[in-house]
Amino acid sequence: MSSAEFSIIEQFFRRTQHQQSGCAVGIGDDCAILDVPENMQLAVSTDTLVEGVHFLSGTEPKSLGHKVLAVNLSDLAAMGAKPAWVSMAITLPSINKEWLSKFTAGFFALANRHGVKLIGGDTTQGPLSITISIMGLLPVGQRLLRSGAKVGDDIYVSGTIGGAGLGLLKAKQASDNSEDVDLQSYLKPIPKIKLGQKLLNNASACIDISDGLSADLNHILKASAVGAKLDHDLLPINESVREHARQLDDELWPYSTGDDYELCFTLPKKLSEEAMDVINDDSVTKIGVIESELGLRIDMKNGQLVSLDKGYEHFEK
Ligand code: ADP
Ligand code: MG
Repeated sequence: MSSAEFSIIEQFFRRTQHQQSGCAVGIGDDCAILDVPENMQLAVSTDTLVEGVHFLSGTEPKSLGHKVLAVNLSDLAAMGAKPAWVSMAITLPSINKEWLSKFTAGFFALANRHGVKLIGGDTTQGPLSITISIMGLLPVGQRLLRSGAKVGDDIYVSGTIGGAGLGLLKAKQASDNSEDVDLQSYLKPIPKIKLGQKLLNNASACIDISDGLSADLNHILKASAVGAKLDHDLLPINESVREHARQLDDELWPYSTGDDYELCFTLPKKLSEEAMDVINDDSVTKIGVIESELGLRIDMKNGQLVSLDKGYEHFEK
């Protein structure tokens, strides 16, 4: 490691962080050493974000620092895991201290909010790219999988759908507006960690929505060997998204846009008290039901059922 690299690790990545128990050795040696508490298991996930592929060139570094961690936290949320540790491999075109200072400000603000500790990583030179490996904790045997949905279960989503997709379009037009809800949900998604933990032991299946509701719900359906029917009228979307879909003359647009990082999950009809609390306390919306007939169907409420498992396939109800 060059002295320049060493100094940026010291200056930007090795900071005093909120105490996270279980990190026996952190940044500075060849490996980190972690204590996994007894009766717990590690949930591990990795995501890479490459400039020009996963985020727009010239993205404001503070929101980028937030987003690289948020998309990884979202994977832990989808499993019901409690965030614990994170490792970061970053490739930088050059050492730009102002950029690094903003990037790490965004990263550590979110890390501290969730009590997750940066325990190591790698720093290299090249085209801008960030890979995060995140580790969370789950009580042994408890987890939210994609594969547990049963016929008759209700299907829910958190938050609203399609806003981040519209935000991406706005970001491409270089709109820089902190008041724009869609733009903010694209730039600074909020991982649904608390909701995921409440769903643990209550939801029959869960996934986070990164590639679009139809694509991600289809992952649950395939893993669970079931199908689903959604009620289009129930889909929670902002007025701006509704208007955008109207302009495109494509009511189904919000189902196919990514980056929402909301949770899509299924609940058995007979709900436990905790599941009732989720429905009453969190902003979740019931959007449909699991059926035995395979595939994903949207009831458009105009006499049409639209299949969204193999592209757009229209047929009469
Ligand atoms: P090695 O050459 O043994 O892989 P490095 O020189 O790459 O070690 O890193 C030195 C220390 O700094 C290691 O503990 C490593 O985990 C940590 N580190 C390097 N880059 C980062 C980063 N971007 N974020 C956090 N820790 C980092
Ligand atoms: Mg290294």
